[in-house]
Amino acid sequence: MLEIIPVGGYGEVGRNCTAVKHGDEIILLDMGYHVPRYIECTEEEGETLRKVTVKALREAEAIPDDRILGDLRYDVKAIILSHAHLDHIGAVPYLANRYRCPIIATPYCCAVLERILRDEKIKLHNQIVRLNVNNAIRFGGMKIEFINTVHSTPQAAMIAVHTADGIVLYTNDFKFDNFPTLGKRTNYDALRRLKGKIKVLIGDALYAGTEQKTPSESVVREMLKDLEFDVAEKKGVVATTFSSHIARLKALMKFGFDLGRKVVFFGRSLFRYCVAAQELGLVDFREVKIVRYADKIKKEIKRIGKKKEKYFLVVTGNQGEPKSVLRRMAEDRLKYDFSDEDCIIFSCKTIPTELNKKQRKELENELKLKGIQYFKDVHVSGHGAREDLRELLMMTMPELVLPSHANKENSKALAELCDEVGIKSRIVQNGEWMKI
Ligand SMILES: [Zn+2]
Repeated sequence: MLEIIPVGGYGEVGRNCTAVKHGDEIILLDMGYHVPRYIECTEEEGETLRKVTVKALREAEAIPDDRILGDLRYDVKAIILSHAHLDHIGAVPYLANRYRCPIIATPYCCAVLERILRDEKIKLHNQIVRLNVNNAIRFGGMKIEFINTVHSTPQAAMIAVHTADGIVLYTNDFKFDNFPTLGKRTNYDALRRLKGKIKVLIGDALYAGTEQKTPSESVVREMLKDLEFDVAEKKGVVATTFSSHIARLKALMKFGFDLGRKVVFFGRSLFRYCVAAQELGLVDFREVKIVRYADKIKKEIKRIGKKKEKYFLVVTGNQGEPKSVLRRMAEDRLKYDFSDEDCIIFSCKTIPTELNKKQRKELENELKLKGIQYFKDVHVSGHGAREDLRELLMMTMPELVLPSHANKENSKALAELCDEVGIKSRIVQNGEWMKI
């Protein structure tokens, strides 16, 4: 018998964690934190994280409440991570020590995790095992297969858990991008091979309510090419994006070089993700200067502020976070001296939480006061939308779909799509133990 235990990330966006139990073997899929709630519990980027307790994080619902597993936690055979985003791996430093098992992830995800552990001086006793996409590993009666998919960070995997009683397919997070700018397109053949054998599909419902196919990342490359003309005569050109979005950072690096400028990245999280990509040879960032520490950032920005026209900067702060580099530059806490001759490219979208919306508004108001031109939404999502989900369902025809990684509205939208396709679905809550 198969059992699914939704531990975190159901009916909400963040702290993803799902347990799959077959016989007396259990595995955990992802161990993330809820980004906004986590930030509220800790100090923001650029500072050392406050030593926050597991208890406090649990109470704030910032990490998955894995106490539901009780003593069964001793039977967990592996913690399996789908990709390097913090809503999928962020709780590992806090919770993994509770389990006597290895952590399995793709090399890029492992490299990011190890860097976080090193930076935060956290020691885990779990062995960290690298598994490449389109490869599989066995644990007793279970086989874990990593199916390559496209997402907004490298080496993302859909996870197929093969058991004697059928397959569980975990699709958080995926995109069907047929022209990816880094890595290969989703392994459609591997998905088609699973058709008719899937008991449960755990579906990335984040954009199930958006009636479109998510455009390819190559579209952003064209959007940037188009912008070159608009910004060529500007003095200061600054961009911001998600630090883990290596494909985007690669495009931004090219954009800066095409403008004939030196490219400098500022921020601790940018450093973390870019160095991991560099080490694995995914992107060559050697021509980019990456400045990590607060005191160095301060000095460099002051120096660059005197000859802005020679530089293209990529900085943290795409959500307007108060302690981010961009926000500090905009509020003259760093001596860049923004003026109406400069411009900013937001290669991102505002993640729609109340806090983000407020912080972005504050930042944009500041930019408007200074007359700085800014280009918003130079971006496409890393998540599939309704038509991608339809394709996924048609390709795999699971017996049952559990919407995940979404609020109530989008979970419902995926359930409705399942009705259209003729597949059963069930909207579950965290802690709703299911026997299949
Ligand atoms: Zn993700």
